[in-house]
Amino acid sequence: MAAHRLRDLLRVEPGSKVRLAAIDPSDTHGHNKSAADKELADGLVRLAGLQDRLWAEAKHPVLVVLQGIDAAGKDGTVHHVMSAFSPQGCPVTDFKVPSALEMSHDYLWRVHQHAPGKGEIAIFNRSHYEDVLVVRVHDLVPKMIWKQRYDQINDWERMLVEEGTTIVKFFLLIDRDEQRKRFQARYDDPTKRWKFKMGDLAERGLWDNYVAAFEEALSRCSTAAAPWYVIPANRNWFRNLAVAEILGDVLDDLKPAYPVIDPSVPADLVIE
Ligand code: AMP
Ligand code: MG
Repeated sequence: MAAHRLRDLLRVEPGSKVRLAAIDPSDTHGHNKSAADKELADGLVRLAGLQDRLWAEAKHPVLVVLQGIDAAGKDGTVHHVMSAFSPQGCPVTDFKVPSALEMSHDYLWRVHQHAPGKGEIAIFNRSHYEDVLVVRVHDLVPKMIWKQRYDQINDWERMLVEEGTTIVKFFLLIDRDEQRKRFQARYDDPTKRWKFKMGDLAERGLWDNYVAAFEEALSRCSTAAAPWYVIPANRNWFRNLAVAEILGDVLDDLKPAYPVIDPSVPADLVIE
């Protein structure tokens, strides 16, 4: 049994400077693979119960952001952790290269419309952070434009939180060699090769630029209102149980409860 909650161990303290090289992506914080299946299964049962009440109560919107370099395990996290949730009430949005329509608006326009409603847990697979990540690495807008976005993102997230949304942001951390193995495995597996793009290798060549961009986003945009968690993600089993535990703790704090039964419904009704 780990001594501390992963929520406390993995949160980026607001105002602190993140150096990813100082974090071990294979760390498992005292958890063991042999116990992981059971731990994850229990975590998913807990999440399912919490979401059932959250949805029934229809009071709190929850936003979960997933970021990480290519092959860090964003899709796998959706598959293995968010599968605890009923699809009703758990919209997943994949943010791809913006369409022409999306490009004709400000960068938050396409994002805001997918923000969660009350009782929903909205999952962002990539997010508005791409606008300070890929956009920065590839100079898709001038530096003076992306530089301003950290504060804009904090302001926008704070507004959502002040209006009642709970925001949890997970950054999945793998190292360069783990990415190499995953790309190779993806390429070698006929059921996964479709996911492999030659462009992934070009992005891989920009590893250090991505690290710099991630570090600045994590350092500047982990706020009390909307903290980032850096999840050591070289081991899928640990990534899954860490995300499940943190999300469970965050949802638990909302104390979601089934609605009070309408007083016109009798306590001893037998339906014929
Ligand atoms: P994937 O997640 O592998 O399906 O790929 C989605 C691609 O869309 C990634 O290469 C992202 O970097 C890219 N993408 C997502 N958001 C943006 C954005 N705002 N501007 C440019 N590219 C983006
Ligand atoms: Mg990809």
